[in-house]
Amino acid sequence: MDFISEDILLYCEKHSAPESELLQKLSRDTAAKILNPRMLSGHLQGRLLAFISKMLHPSSILEIGTYTGYSTLCLCEGLTADGKITTMDINDELEAFSSGFFKESPYHQQIISLSGDAKALLPEISGSFDLVFIDADKSDYCSYYDLVIEKVRSGGIILADNVLWSGHVLHAESRRDAETRELIRFNEMVAADLRVDVLMLPFRDGISIIQKK
Ligand code: SAH
Repeated sequence: MDFISEDILLYCEKHSAPESELLQKLSRDTAAKILNPRMLSGHLQGRLLAFISKMLHPSSILEIGTYTGYSTLCLCEGLTADGKITTMDINDELEAFSSGFFKESPYHQQIISLSGDAKALLPEISGSFDLVFIDADKSDYCSYYDLVIEKVRSGGIILADNVLWSGHVLHAESRRDAETRELIRFNEMVAADLRVDVLMLPFRDGISIIQKK
C-alpha cells in the first residue's frame, strides 16, 4: 500500500535536493544486482535522512540494517569532520557491494561496517550516539530499541523505518505474522515510553522520529 500517490511523490522529488551521482549509481546497481531492491531508502527518504543528520550535525551515528549502504551514505552527510557512523548487517554477502560504494564516497574513513546479528553486536558497542537509524528485521524492533535507548544521548534522535508496514499495523485482529505483531508492539511501546517524544510520519512506509528527553 502506498500512502502517498506516485504523482505527489514525483513532484516532491522534483522539488527537493537531487540525489548525488553516487547515490543514483548505488540505487541502479542495487536494482540490477541485489535481491529485494525495494528495501533501499531511495531519493526522498534519503534526503530526509540527510536533512535530519545535517540538522543534528552528529559526531556519532548508529545504523541497524545497512543493506547496500544507501541510507548509510545519506546519514554521513551531516557527520562532523571527525564523526563516525557504525553500521551493521546480518547479511555478510552485501558487504563487498556496500564497501565498494563507501570507498567511492568522501566518507569512507568515517564508516565502521560490521557483519552480524544486531542483537549480538549491540551489547558489545560502547559509546553515546547522537543519531540512530533502526531499519533491520521488523520482527525484532523492540529488542533493537531496548538495546540502544540507553546509548542515545539526551536530545539524540532514533529514526525507525517501516513503522506502518504497508498499513498492516491497523489490522491487529487479522494479521498473525511476526513482523506486524512486533511493529504494533513497538509503536505502542514507544508511544508510552516517558523517556522519549515521538512523531510518526505517514511518509513512505511510515517513519517514526523519536527524541530522547
Ligand atoms: N537501511 C537500508 C535498508 C535496510 S534493509 C536502506 O535504507 O537503504 C534491512 C537490512 O537489515 C537487510 O539488509 C538485512 O540483511 C538486515 N538485517 C535483518 N536482520 C538483521 C539483524 N538481526 N541484524 C542486522 N541486520 C539485519
